[in-house]
Amino acid sequence: MLTVEGLTVRYGAGKSAVSAVDDVSLQVDDGQVLSLLGPSGCGKSTLLRTVAGLEPVAGGRIRWNGEDLAAVPVHRRRFGLMFQDGVLFPHRNVAGNIGYGLRFTGLDRGRQRRRIDELLELVGLPGLGARKVASLSGGQQQRVALARALAPSPRLLLLDEPLAALDASLRARLLTDLRTVLADTRTSALFVTHDQGEAFAVADRIALMNTGRIRQVGTPTTVWRHPADEWAARFVGYTTVLPAGHGIPGIADGPVALRPAALVADQHGGGQPGRLTGTVLSARPTPDTVRLTVDLPGAGVVQAISETLQVVGDTVILSVDRTGTAQIVERPDSTAADGAAADDAAADDAAADLAAGDGAAGDGAAAGGAAADDGTAVDRGTVGQ
Ligand code: ADP
Ligand code: MG
Repeated sequence: MLTVEGLTVRYGAGKSAVSAVDDVSLQVDDGQVLSLLGPSGCGKSTLLRTVAGLEPVAGGRIRWNGEDLAAVPVHRRRFGLMFQDGVLFPHRNVAGNIGYGLRFTGLDRGRQRRRIDELLELVGLPGLGARKVASLSGGQQQRVALARALAPSPRLLLLDEPLAALDASLRARLLTDLRTVLADTRTSALFVTHDQGEAFAVADRIALMNTGRIRQVGTPTTVWRHPADEWAARFVGYTTVLPAGHGIPGIADGPVALRPAALVADQHGGGQPGRLTGTVLSARPTPDTVRLTVDLPGAGVVQAISETLQVVGDTVILSVDRTGTAQIVERPDSTAADGAAADDAAADDAAADLAAGDGAAGDGAAAGGAAADDGTAVDRGTVGQ
């Protein structure tokens, strides 16, 4: 088990020093995948490189099964590394690349060959050992990089945006395969990404990071259903955050996060209790639905969807689909490595929601990605920003 306690990493010296990683605590349980998810520049790579032993520690501890790794050099940590660009050895063939890390394992040549074949099979490249790496596609090269990282059976795999350089369809396929390989080999992994969809697809637990700090740790379901604060909610794809006192019928009071699909324009629902009336500020058709921004008196500007194109300035009646909403509950202890108790309690709530058919984590991930993509194109609501 990897344990990171109060880790701080600084770049620069004296007054110009900045903490790229600021008092971070987290843990990766045996056989589990922790996704470190955050925007570009928030300190993810710095944290991963520091765990690998490649950056000096300014404060805090990194432990493996309780053992402090401060004095353990990179090559003795038995951690595997995989980056965005696998940087394969161009003069070695596929088998030579995968076998590189096996040279010091004490396996005889026959065993090494069998291990290489087994890994080629595992990453979906059976029989390609003799191929030149230059003749492989980008996706195949990343599969080789994964096999090379796994070859010496690392006790922890550190992955830094391993799919970021691939095009979308390839990324989706490799993501599924990666998840399967990690699960089948019960490899403990720290998976760094800025992509919400990737994190939700691959993680047992997600650590949300921003400006050098961990903002929330939890299962994908917990992070999706119970974002810890407004930033976390927006980062996982909620587009509207309303403060306490929003006055929306059917939703408990307190800060609430809404996906666009949480508010549905409906001309036929007028006059019924629990409906909201607002003015259309913008309407934009998309392949799936019509996206609206609506001024809701008392609450502010919200995003909504409609089946029909609405006219700007018209009055619409909105109904609330609770499955697209999340209550924001500030839980300061959720950021701590030992905050598991609070986290699990919340996860139980989320599991209950799921059992009641209130969305699914997998759906949530897909919707999160879509909503985040969408948020850049749509004029965001102004409430609560
Ligand atoms: P991420 O991987 O989340 O994009 P990084 O860990 O690469 O973030 O960077 C975190 C912060 O540290 C950024 O502000 C970045 O500019 C800074 N940084 C990263 N590497 C260095 C370095 N070698 N020297 C100085 N600043 C750095
Ligand atoms: Mg990075």
